[in-house]
Amino acid sequence: MIQRDARQFIPNSEQALQDTTLQTALARAKSGFLGKRRKAIALVDDFEFLKQQAQAAKQRALDNIPALLDQFEHNLNAAGGQLHRAATPDDLNRIVLDICQRRQAKIITKGKSMVSEETHLNTALEQAGLDVVETDLGEYIIQLAKEPPSHIIAPAVHKTRQAVAELFRHHHALGERDLNEISNLVEEARQMLRQRFLAADVGITGANLLVASTGSIAIVTNEGNGDLTATLPPVHIVTASLEKLVENLEDAGAILEVLGRSATGQAMSAYTTFFTGPKRPSELDGPEEMHVIVLDNGRSDILQSEFAAMLRCIRCGACLNHCPVYSNVGGHAYGSVYPGPMGSVLTPLLEGLNQGHVLPNASTFCGRCAEVCPMGIPLPDLLRKLREQEHRQQLDSTGWRMVLRFYSWLATRPRWFHLAMRAITFTQRLLRDASGTRLRVPFSNGWNRQRELPAAPDATPFLQQWQKQQERKP
Ligand code: SF4
Repeated sequence: MIQRDARQFIPNSEQALQDTTLQTALARAKSGFLGKRRKAIALVDDFEFLKQQAQAAKQRALDNIPALLDQFEHNLNAAGGQLHRAATPDDLNRIVLDICQRRQAKIITKGKSMVSEETHLNTALEQAGLDVVETDLGEYIIQLAKEPPSHIIAPAVHKTRQAVAELFRHHHALGERDLNEISNLVEEARQMLRQRFLAADVGITGANLLVASTGSIAIVTNEGNGDLTATLPPVHIVTASLEKLVENLEDAGAILEVLGRSATGQAMSAYTTFFTGPKRPSELDGPEEMHVIVLDNGRSDILQSEFAAMLRCIRCGACLNHCPVYSNVGGHAYGSVYPGPMGSVLTPLLEGLNQGHVLPNASTFCGRCAEVCPMGIPLPDLLRKLREQEHRQQLDSTGWRMVLRFYSWLATRPRWFHLAMRAITFTQRLLRDASGTRLRVPFSNGWNRQRELPAAPDATPFLQQWQKQQERKP
């Protein structure tokens, strides 16, 4: 069984690679995401310009977080809402629970919120006896399956249509029906969820943006479930992390320009909604109370560190979709709330290097993640810095540390280094296969089965060529 522990990345990955259903689902999802993003970007004259605008907007906010949070609070209060500051995940869960208990809530509907995954909010609410219903289709599916999300924007991406049909048959007592088409599955989920939307006492959503100049929050979904969760119950609770703040609506617009295109290949989701406070006396619809809980959970420290750029992340998922590691092992293998390249940086920062130090090694350093990131986050550089910290804190394996120590000894002694290179060149000649172009390394059958190690050519080594050239100089 896949373990929810980031330190188990390697055994989890081995299992994931053997899982044929998962491999089918991942292959299908990958081609869909990549193609849609490519097309959406091709339709824009200058996507680089949009990216720069979005990055500048986010950076302006990160440079001024404490003041923006105060301004957001002031404007939210003026609109009738209330801000709560949560330093830790437990604080956030306690604030939500207090609100629910004060309102004597029983049924809670939830829109997608990665922050609530970070704080394990559902578990906290369920332990207090509340009935929590996820309303994003993907989240609903994995809630039925009792699994965590495997992607930050497509939580059930690891499930095939057949697996979802099986889940629905098991959990919905609706008798015989045709669940072969995706449209039938969607319709059934809609029917089941509609009753819960109408019965909910509290709706909890995440937020993609917190706009300081107006006190508004923006929610972007693909199904409109966020809007129903926010407007139907009498209480709306928003869970968001500190870095969601932006200065004003123009900056929010700049970020939305790149979010949809990078995430789902849409110019903008049809369900992009700004909420400013609860229902006003003259309005018919909307909640009576609106609470925005802003979670820090170590982000203030990250902001002061060499990893501050990571807080520019807008959770578009593009780095996951383009990562050769994520697309082969899926999100659960990471054993953490945030998978893929962004998760491999965020997890050690949020949960500590002791817990997350294996994840920065889950990268080939191909650099694709940084190339596609609309927020210009230098993910490979950040992963490298975390690997350095892992090495300094001696969290990497003893064998690997000894190899590095030996290499650093060798590399600083030119005579020994050249002797070693000659010995390696000689040995690799003995290991060539019949074609003479590949090496067969003894005792590494697993490696050889999956890959080809090319043999070095018989040409004169560079250093010898260089020396000869120097000798020929007058
Ligand atoms: S790191 Fe960049 S590409 Fe990855 S989710 Fe965040 S914004 Fe998107």
